[in-house]
Amino acid sequence: MEFDLADHHRLLRDTVREFAHQEIGPVAEELDRTKAFPYEIVRGLGELGLMGIPFPEEYGGGGGDSIAYALAVEELARVDSSVAITVCAHTTLGTEPIYLFGSEEQKREWLPRLCSGERLGAFGLTEPEAGSDAGNTQTRAALDAGEWVINGSKQFITNAGTDISGVVVITAVTSAGAGTRGEREISNLLVPHGTPGYEPGEPYRKMGWNASDTRPLSFSDCRVPAENLVGQRGAGLRQFLHVLDIGRIGVAAMGVGLAQGALDQALAYAKERRAFGRPISQFQTIQSKLAAMSVEVEATRLLVYKAAWLKDRERNFTLTAAQAKLKSGRLAVRAADEAVQIHGGYGYIEEYPVCRFYRDAKVLTIGEGTDEVQEMVIARALGA
Ligand SMILES: Cc1cc2nc3c(=O)[nH]c(=O)nc-3n(C[C@H](O)[C@H](O)[C@H](O)COP(=O)(O)OP(=O)(O)OC[C@H]3O[C@@H](n4cnc5c(N)ncnc54)[C@H](O)[C@@H]3O)c2cc1C
Repeated sequence: MEFDLADHHRLLRDTVREFAHQEIGPVAEELDRTKAFPYEIVRGLGELGLMGIPFPEEYGGGGGDSIAYALAVEELARVDSSVAITVCAHTTLGTEPIYLFGSEEQKREWLPRLCSGERLGAFGLTEPEAGSDAGNTQTRAALDAGEWVINGSKQFITNAGTDISGVVVITAVTSAGAGTRGEREISNLLVPHGTPGYEPGEPYRKMGWNASDTRPLSFSDCRVPAENLVGQRGAGLRQFLHVLDIGRIGVAAMGVGLAQGALDQALAYAKERRAFGRPISQFQTIQSKLAAMSVEVEATRLLVYKAAWLKDRERNFTLTAAQAKLKSGRLAVRAADEAVQIHGGYGYIEEYPVCRFYRDAKVLTIGEGTDEVQEMVIARALGA
């Protein structure tokens, strides 16, 4: 068993850490407050090769593995979750299905632009009637004169409404008849931004992740070429379940990063803030909170790396990714809560990053499969 990071992993981690510290940290509060999408930061991440870490170099990707990706995401979320989710939704949700299941033409057309960060990818799975129950997709696509005609709507979709949004991969029912639940055929389709009949709606007013882009999407007689089918017709359910498994590693890394960031902030503050004539870091109850946070962060980090490690060895990682996602979401919420507590009243004031971390943490128990869904995935993998 090897716990040391390889040199190239350490280099990548340090590069992202420095970028996050220098380029994201100073503007994170303002981006959050003004709900401004971080275009400049995405451009910088693209220049550093961080918008396509796990994809082969021949398509413009970074040629990295899942450990590299998890390390990068963790360092971003340690400073700002809006940037981290923008990268995650783009990489593992938006770009991954094209890489894994797309035709050679689709890969050649989209991957270089996505991996460079020139364009953003999005994944449109969730619908008003299909969240946890994602197979209940109501959006329909019918073939007509060599084109798919798409009608329906999606909700809570990340990265689909920015100035640089390039493409959304959506799930749609492609069987001809009404179809009962068991026999419905679900497929994935590529819909380029700007296609007539495809309209991203107004951004949501969210609790957190304020500088990331989240919108409903509507499709009204939206026509895309028949070749925009991703992989096999009817394979959509299997495809998106696999994509979600992979995405969980990234979102779990976000939880670890947020919790580590909360610990960083809380420790620094506790050493500065004085009460009863001494730094509050010298009080045992504060030390106990810091110690508990550090134990949980480290344990969860190992679980995330294990999920990434299993994936990189092409072993089954469904169970471990769900365990990591469940544990890290809960950790993020708890760590942010403790960090605010250690800040006292200042933790409730927006100038202090822990205030933003507190708001950003909650969605980690909801997005990419709720905690309850992770428990179902885990129990199923255990054979329950
Ligand atoms: C900021 C944000 C960004 C997002 N980005 C994307 C994106 O880019 N692409 C995308 O497709 N989706 C995205 N989502 C959607 C997200 O994945 C869903 O919100 C999530 O899967 C939950 O679905 P739901 O909101 O419909 O909740 P529901 O499925 O309605 O769940 C409501 C509650 O019921 C529980 N529940 C449901 N079924 C069961 C069950 N069988 N057993 C026990 N409990 C159950 C849930 O756990 C939850 O507590 C995003 C969401 C948010 C908030």
